Amino acid sequence: MLIIGVDGLLGEAVSAIPTPSIDRVINSGAWTPQLVAGNHRQFTESAPGWSTILTGVWAPKHQVWSNFGWDFNNLAQYPALYRRLDQVAPQLSTASFVHWAPINQWLLNDADTASSFATDIEVAAASAAFLQRPDTADVTFVHFDDVDHAGHECCYSAGNDDYQNAVRQVDKLVGQLLSSLETRPGILQEDWLVMVVSDHGGGFFWHGGDTPQERDAFLAIANTGPHPFCSTTDLTGVTQADVLPTVLAFLGLSVPTEWGIDGQRRC
Ligand SMILES: [Zn+2]
Ligand SMILES: [Zn+2]
Repeated sequence: MLIIGVDGLLGEAVSAIPTPSIDRVINSGAWTPQLVAGNHRQFTESAPGWSTILTGVWAPKHQVWSNFGWDFNNLAQYPALYRRLDQVAPQLSTASFVHWAPINQWLLNDADTASSFATDIEVAAASAAFLQRPDTADVTFVHFDDVDHAGHECCYSAGNDDYQNAVRQVDKLVGQLLSSLETRPGILQEDWLVMVVSDHGGGFFWHGGDTPQERDAFLAIANTGPHPFCSTTDLTGVTQADVLPTVLAFLGLSVPTEWGIDGQRRC
């Protein structure tokens, strides 16, 4: 399984900007340009967003309220994906390649393989090489940050040249990862889930608030096997808290009730 996180990717921007690689995921699977971020329960910041995507619960439970709030987290009670996998499927191997290091420090610190990089290009090169290995991980998380940087420079808008260029560039890196997967020696015997997901959108040059533009993140899910994993092509109404139970469902795992997960399987 390959989960590609694109920081600050505004859902509507994917429709407005040419993104041939992300479109391949959309067209062979399911998607929504309005993945629900924040959900009126937490700031549309990176730390709460990635925490919800990777734990399946909102901030009242994981307690990561802002990018400066990691120290006050409740991740021991509501751990992120890789620790959950250690609990129910310890035989699965995991990896994480990120541009924003706090994800590896706070959320995916249980990864069997984890690296942080200073640029998206380095993230793509390392993760693309890793995906080619015969002994690659069962689940790999990849995080790109340059789209969010372009938004902060000004602005989160498909009509802004710099933001548009950043989206085109990240689409090329997504294409690099897809090519790496598709040329795996054993790909025809394997069934990969590919997910592209963002932590928040943005308005003007910022995010964190509760406007529709900030709450509209992005999600696309497709798998490579002969039978589609998603029974629908339309993921309207799916929230960030639904990601973890959906990922577990693809792996054939159910979510124990005692975990207190807020989301549910949506494919
Ligand atoms: Zn972010
Ligand atoms: Zn940001």
